[in-house]
Amino acid sequence: MTINETITLSNGVRMPLLGLGVFQMKQGGEVLNAVRAALEAGYRHIDTAEGYRNEEEVGQALAESGVPRSEVWVTTKLSNDRQGYETTKAACEDSLRKLRLDQVDLYLMHWPFDETMADTWRAMQELRDEGKCRAIGVSNFSVKRFEFFFTLTDEAPAVNQVELHPFNYRPDLLELHRAKGIATEAYSPLTRAQRFDDPTLVALAEKHGKTPAQILIRWDLQHGIVTIPKSSHKERIIENADVYDFALEDEEVTQLDGLAQDYWAITWRPDPDGWY
Ligand code: NDP
Repeated sequence: MTINETITLSNGVRMPLLGLGVFQMKQGGEVLNAVRAALEAGYRHIDTAEGYRNEEEVGQALAESGVPRSEVWVTTKLSNDRQGYETTKAACEDSLRKLRLDQVDLYLMHWPFDETMADTWRAMQELRDEGKCRAIGVSNFSVKRFEFFFTLTDEAPAVNQVELHPFNYRPDLLELHRAKGIATEAYSPLTRAQRFDDPTLVALAEKHGKTPAQILIRWDLQHGIVTIPKSSHKERIIENADVYDFALEDEEVTQLDGLAQDYWAITWRPDPDGWY
């Protein structure tokens, strides 16, 4: 496995397994430097969102990088307050303009909202058919939310981006993804650095001569899960991609799976009413 490893989405498009997440990075240099460092380190995948308010600087960094557009995967996400048919179309155009692109590789519905889901999805399907995005997907969808989604449409999203790491490993959701041909993408894959002191993680890191962050990223990669660790620091961006010179044993992957304890790194849980 190398940094160029991809998975093939249900529509045949190949998506790089490792990307840089840019949530909470501010414009005015932080995003520019991080995306630049990531591209220099060999990343070919950037994950942003309209809601992160940094699409312009992602676009600037990509334009200035000299890396051919065809070699970089760009994901952005539809903001919650723009869900609905017309508003989704307009939001996608705005994102493309800010990113200085004719097409994004992946356009995600950032959060599920039942009331607007059907119209939003129909607009996203049309955007994909018009070539504004190569693939369309969802984010923060639980098993129950998918049950509702599939009462509205027969077409499965290409991707579901959810919080995922060993501490909230969710085999039921992954099984649904497998059954429906949905690629799994892990956000907050490093637990936002909240669980680096876990004894199992520390022991595996010591054994392999790696850091806890690298063990967590390797766990995703060996599961075939797309992973988008965020760092604003060049040395950590490089560290997070330095995961191709070792492998976890199968039983070590299983050991990490066993850390599941419904632990959430994000500050507010999607669907606190019990969808998850
Ligand atoms: P991560 O799990 O990626 O953790 C990021 C944190 O870990 C930052 O504080 C970073 O600090 C630190 N860090 C990164 N690398 C290392 C390292 N090697 N050693 C020590 N600390 C490290 O959290 P995120 O929540 O940012 O998730 C990643 C991406 O997922 C986001 O950027 C975004 O693109 C996406 N996301 C999507 C959501 C959705 O609703 N769809 C929700 C949340 C995230 P520093 O930057 O200072 O280096």
